[in-house]
Amino acid sequence: MTELKQRIMDAQTIVVKVGTSTITHANGSMDFHLTEKLVRVLADLRSDGKNIVLVTSGAIGIGRFRMSISDRPSSLPQKQALAAIGQVSLMHYYSKLFSEYDQIVAQVLITRDVVDDELKKQNTYNTFCTLLDYGVIPIVNENDTVATEEIEPIFGDNDTLSAVVAELIGADLLILLSDIEGLYDKNPKAHEDANLIPIIYDVCNQVIEGAEDTNNNLGTGGMKTKIGAARICSEAGIPMIITNGNDPDHIYEILEGKDVGTLFVPKMNR
Ligand code: ADP
Repeated sequence: MTELKQRIMDAQTIVVKVGTSTITHANGSMDFHLTEKLVRVLADLRSDGKNIVLVTSGAIGIGRFRMSISDRPSSLPQKQALAAIGQVSLMHYYSKLFSEYDQIVAQVLITRDVVDDELKKQNTYNTFCTLLDYGVIPIVNENDTVATEEIEPIFGDNDTLSAVVAELIGADLLILLSDIEGLYDKNPKAHEDANLIPIIYDVCNQVIEGAEDTNNNLGTGGMKTKIGAARICSEAGIPMIITNGNDPDHIYEILEGKDVGTLFVPKMNR
């Protein structure tokens, strides 16, 4: 355990995934207060020499807000159009906020075929390595505008995507910033007596009965996809932590070796 904690504290390449409900308001618009805090922490870590990759959701919600559409879009072309609109704003905000701290960002839009095709995989890996060598912060999202699989899921969600990216680039740590403290023994939104599980030793063999899907107005995924992400990381030897994104300083606490949220122990550290 101490060895794992030390690995986490020494993590050089860190993938951080932020969910829609963390960085956007209920109406889909960007939560600037929270996003600014997150950007400051990530920019600071980059300044400290860490390689940072940010996987971010939010494009469809922001697209909806920009087009004054209050209902969740139902048709695929609508979703893809709103993703195309929202992605531009999302990147505009990130680029502007990161530039306040002298950090350059790059947009990386990924589709599932990147991992299914060896050549594309190698190419994507090379691109990530070059961006990180440049000291740039890659900002990753699924290519919602062209990937039907994303919206009618195959990658399906950015939890899985972030784990795939972490594995692809050989990251040392994946942090999922959610709207909840971590994984509970049952859905705390439905059960008042739910308890936070601080550590999961064997995500591949442990049945986590309490993890339900959410499919709320803005995001998709929920805990099932996070557990799927943890399984990918476990196999790849990457520790994964779910914590609440409402306070980005949790990232510092994680890197100080403190117990935050739910830690998923990778296979090699069991
Ligand atoms: P985000 O995109 O912010 O990560 P998600 O909706 O994808 O948010 O996932 C977090 C949500 O998962 C929680 O708000 C909660 O409603 C739901 N959930 C379902 N089961 C659990 C569980 N066992 N522990 C924690 N959260 C759970």
